[in-house]
Amino acid sequence: MAKILVVDDAEFLRVRIKKLLSGAGHDVIEAENGAKAIETYNAEHPNVVLMDITMPELDGLAALKQIKGTDPAANVVMLTALGQESVVLEAIKAGAKDFVVKPFDPDRVLAAVQKVLA
Ligand SMILES: [Mg+2]
Repeated sequence: MAKILVVDDAEFLRVRIKKLLSGAGHDVIEAENGAKAIETYNAEHPNVVLMDITMPELDGLAALKQIKGTDPAANVVMLTALGQESVVLEAIKAGAKDFVVKPFDPDRVLAAVQKVLA
């Protein structure tokens, strides 16, 4: 079991991912933008972060960079949309461990989480 932080500005998506990961036995916490993600990361030290890219206040790429800046070992998986390839590349360069393209395949999300925890 891992503590997983799900970051997305779309509430329905957080709810769906939370249901999926809770069903797999994980402890899930949520944040709705990059700024909240950094705050929650520093307070809760989750094992894995699933991070949306396009969000208000602070986007996922900026939040990833700040989290990796304070915790280089952070396990961050980006949640991306089609057409965001250049941002995904930059995220991988900035230390993201993997990415899952939305609309996501539940098995792909679980596999990405398992991979970064291994
Ligand atoms: Mg978004």
